[in-house]
Amino acid sequence: MTLTEKLLARASGKPRVQAGDNVWVKADVLMTHDVCGPGTIGVFKREFGKDAKVWDRNKVVIIPDHYIFTADSKSNRNVDILRDFVKEQSIGYFYDVIDDPNGHWVFDPSKGMLNRQYGSNYAGVCHTALPQKGHTRPGEILFGTDSHTCMAGAFNEFATGIGNTDAGFVLGTGKLLLKVPETMHFRLEGKLQPGLMAKDIILHCIGEIGFDGATYRAMQFDGSGVSSLSMDDRMTIANMAIEAGGKNGVFEFDQITKAYVDHRCKTNGTKATYEPVARDKDEKFVYEMVVDLSRLEPTVACHPDPGQRKLARELGNVKLDRAYIGSCTGGKTSDFLEFARVLRGKRVVIDTFGVPATPEIVNDLQTAQWDEKTVWQILLDAGVQMTENAGCAACLGGPVDTFGRMNSPMKCISATNRNFPGRMGHKESQVFLASPITVAASALTGKITDPRGFLS
Ligand code: SF4
Repeated sequence: MTLTEKLLARASGKPRVQAGDNVWVKADVLMTHDVCGPGTIGVFKREFGKDAKVWDRNKVVIIPDHYIFTADSKSNRNVDILRDFVKEQSIGYFYDVIDDPNGHWVFDPSKGMLNRQYGSNYAGVCHTALPQKGHTRPGEILFGTDSHTCMAGAFNEFATGIGNTDAGFVLGTGKLLLKVPETMHFRLEGKLQPGLMAKDIILHCIGEIGFDGATYRAMQFDGSGVSSLSMDDRMTIANMAIEAGGKNGVFEFDQITKAYVDHRCKTNGTKATYEPVARDKDEKFVYEMVVDLSRLEPTVACHPDPGQRKLARELGNVKLDRAYIGSCTGGKTSDFLEFARVLRGKRVVIDTFGVPATPEIVNDLQTAQWDEKTVWQILLDAGVQMTENAGCAACLGGPVDTFGRMNSPMKCISATNRNFPGRMGHKESQVFLASPITVAASALTGKITDPRGFLS
């Protein structure tokens, strides 16, 4: 069996499964957020009754993160709906925007978009917060009401996005009927050259197979090249499995996984036991591809979909209006550090927005010192508009007052993960997906730029 088949066999209580089997899978964690949570709660109450209780209050994780820092009252109200449900159900894990359990969330635009407006429990973007808060464990099943839930496959678990109806069912029963996907095999070999990041790996893979090339398939990443990738790198890759249509992305378990998970579970007091799955000798793949990491070049996915792969050096004629770094995919601490290494001592020439994925990342950047200056200050000095209000922000557009949203047609290079028309705001704008290093180099020149000439 492949890694995905082993995970689904275990979770369905069967000795073996194969692609195409329909199995009832037990959930270890169900995650929802402010956009889909209210709808999921509505389905749950409609189908199970207004007094029904969730199947396991300690396996439900609720993380408001999407439309938070906006004066849009309906968006603010969504967070209140989540809070009411958490109280009613005694949900174990709720990362509220405010500290008062009886309060109401109201964003105050008069305080500006840049300064922190959240309480001590707020966790930021759900997919980055889940591992940071100790909710991703090898061998488990994670369902989330968000397509990039697949990011947690970096931790050797089956993680996939589901709709509100399915999530309402999981809330009531703790299980879901799934068809076992076929597995595509991506064997990574070698090591990335300077100026390259994990984002280049996944943009290359999606470019090879197309933005629908993995539709309802598992994407398994393994091989000797994985050992040189950090957990942040693996998360970037697994996150974008959905950008090829994948059901899930999954990595092998190793000591790097173990160190991360053990530390996070211990720090947060979450369940610390888990059982990884290992590769079998008899894996059957529907597709195989070997990626020599040492031969990759800085890669960009052009408008209008993540499969429109080109090399950064081929796109020097594309003039840009804006650069953006943030999101679950590209707003992690390591992403900002690589971004800052390129910008240090220089000045961007186009509007450049920085949105850390979580408050912990804000703190990392505000405490990391390079020659007497914090990384945060280095970015400010370079002209980057940095906000402390960690969240999804303009990654998916959001209400018109969202920080960094494109409210007119423009061209933006972005460290995010999705670039379909209208994704970051105006439907006639164009988004070019790239690594944080390529975004930084492009912000310095105002056009898409191969970053290898900007490395110090
Ligand atoms: S940062 Fe973007 S991709 Fe990630 S969860 Fe938020 S909207 Fe989705």
